[in-house]
Amino acid sequence: MEMLAIEPLPLYLETPSVGLSTSEVEAMAGARLRLLVACPLHIPLGGVACDAGALSSDLTLNAGFDVGDLPYIDAVGHFTLRLAFSEPRALREWFVQKELRVFRLRWAAASEDVRAVALTTAGLVCSVDTAPDELPGTVGATRSLAVSVPFTSVPPVLIAQRRVVLRHGKALLSTEDAGCVIGHLFEIHLRAALDLATAGAHHVQSHVGFCMLVERLRACGEQIVAREEREALPEATIDGNGGRSDFPRGDLTLSNFEEQLQQSFPPCMRHMVLSQRRGQHLKDQGRLQLRFFLRQAGLPLASALQWWKVELTRDPVIDAHSFSKNYAYAIEHAYGQRGASACRAGFGCAKIIQLPFPKVHEVHGCPFKIFSSGQLQAALETWGVAPGARPAIWEAALAGECTKACSLCFDSTHPGSKFSGHIRHPNAYLRWSRAHYAACTRG
Ligand code: SF4
Repeated sequence: MEMLAIEPLPLYLETPSVGLSTSEVEAMAGARLRLLVACPLHIPLGGVACDAGALSSDLTLNAGFDVGDLPYIDAVGHFTLRLAFSEPRALREWFVQKELRVFRLRWAAASEDVRAVALTTAGLVCSVDTAPDELPGTVGATRSLAVSVPFTSVPPVLIAQRRVVLRHGKALLSTEDAGCVIGHLFEIHLRAALDLATAGAHHVQSHVGFCMLVERLRACGEQIVAREEREALPEATIDGNGGRSDFPRGDLTLSNFEEQLQQSFPPCMRHMVLSQRRGQHLKDQGRLQLRFFLRQAGLPLASALQWWKVELTRDPVIDAHSFSKNYAYAIEHAYGQRGASACRAGFGCAKIIQLPFPKVHEVHGCPFKIFSSGQLQAALETWGVAPGARPAIWEAALAGECTKACSLCFDSTHPGSKFSGHIRHPNAYLRWSRAHYAACTRG
């Protein structure tokens, strides 16, 4: 577990400055890349976080490193990967999400003292024994540790879930939630550093050997991202050769739409459909998310056009003419009748969770990430989640484990289902749910 349990908690604020050969840098970057690959974005239910032990022995035995050098290897690997993974966009997003995952795992495993050092290094003021009783997560705790941070540093999700107490212009949080703040700052810093790496890419070109190493790492990263995206797709969209088939296998029609909506749509898609019916016109991001889901769910093009027309013209500013003029094209495009998007798969959970937080009047994303505590509590009740299952779902959502929360939600609403894995795609949720109801009907 050494590579995960590095102390002090690395924030990668400064580049290590020691002379190394290209092959040494490559070995360290390779080790760091294996750590990222071994850390799944979402921990399987009942599974282990990642095979860090195997990684560590691989690192020390195969690459000839000493365990004592791990912090150094980790830093060199991280900074090298920053250069290689700064672009294209898909690679950069993968890198950011994986780095955040590693950071959260390290934070979760760190002692209070290690956390306090990291918070101070990140410029956050840490005060002990000052947690007010109303601060979530501190009531009844034997050691009341609160972290005071500028209000502007608090991620929107913590404010939405009322995990913060405002005192004299500062936000007070429990140390658990402070991990979310420092993770947020880490992400901001990392994204800025990746922008810099992209802008300064020409500096690398003066060193041919290093430039080739960056290219090799980038090519390797692209293969990894493509493979993980393929694996996240529901089986029905993968053909016998491991490629994507160009049409969904679901059986959604207009006549069974309401039944499947209530019984089987995943929370994200149900939320969008119902919000639209309550008068919230879906903006681009929401329509995109829903369009491909419905196509993969099996809704034929003619039915999709009909369905979208009914739903969108609930908004009085959209009539039949403006629907044909402004919206029909995108639906036909999603079905490959226009442009070249026939093989484009619907968004997987990882992508949906990464979407920007919806602004006012926008509806998209994953409810387990964007809902406030009140919204989530009400939704769990509406979705029919058993009261006993709610705390675990709530905790998983709060910890940023959206797909775990979703999988627990599925378990609770589909008792006896054969599904025992992990939801990674909204269409997989739908498919498992339909299989469950089909089995119930067969008896
Ligand atoms: S975890 Fe995936 S399927 Fe579940 S609500 Fe979030 S995005 Fe939708």
